[in-house]
Amino acid sequence: MIIVVESKKNQGSTFRFTAQFERFNEKDGATISGYERLQGEKRAQDASKLKGLRVLLVEDDEINQELAVELLTRNRIEVVTANNGQEALAILKDQEFDGVLMDCQMPIMDGYEATRKIREQEKFKDIPVIALTANAMAGDREKDLEAGMNDHIAKPIKPDEMYITMAKWISANDE
Ligand code: MN
Repeated sequence: MIIVVESKKNQGSTFRFTAQFERFNEKDGATISGYERLQGEKRAQDASKLKGLRVLLVEDDEINQELAVELLTRNRIEVVTANNGQEALAILKDQEFDGVLMDCQMPIMDGYEATRKIREQEKFKDIPVIALTANAMAGDREKDLEAGMNDHIAKPIKPDEMYITMAKWISANDE
């Protein structure tokens, strides 16, 4: 999947998506390998598992925030947004969430510090926190884990990857 974002000052932004969709009906089954078919089923399962979840999205970049909100709400995930770590901590104080998607680089309070402060609180020791990071290098991954994040999703976000990673860690409290 390719996502192109065009931003013009004072004119807003345009998102363009190029996506390839595979078909999984019986008729086409013969042309798709068993592995691909399983992968497709897993993606669909993972995406449907996430429906109805309530997630806190912490992201300072307006365009990335809009894009992530779109991908989450499209899958019927309820999203509340925060623009930095400090805002996230304030929101977590009086609202319940099934998980947190945390950008790493943010002004005021970055994602690492915010995650450390979340983990310091007993009631949040098990809340899933998934890093959103533009840099998928090994060193950053270690830094994510060290700060207490469970996993990470690389930016630009690939919808399938996001759903699969989220489904691995986040599930509804009431199920
Ligand atoms: Mn950022």
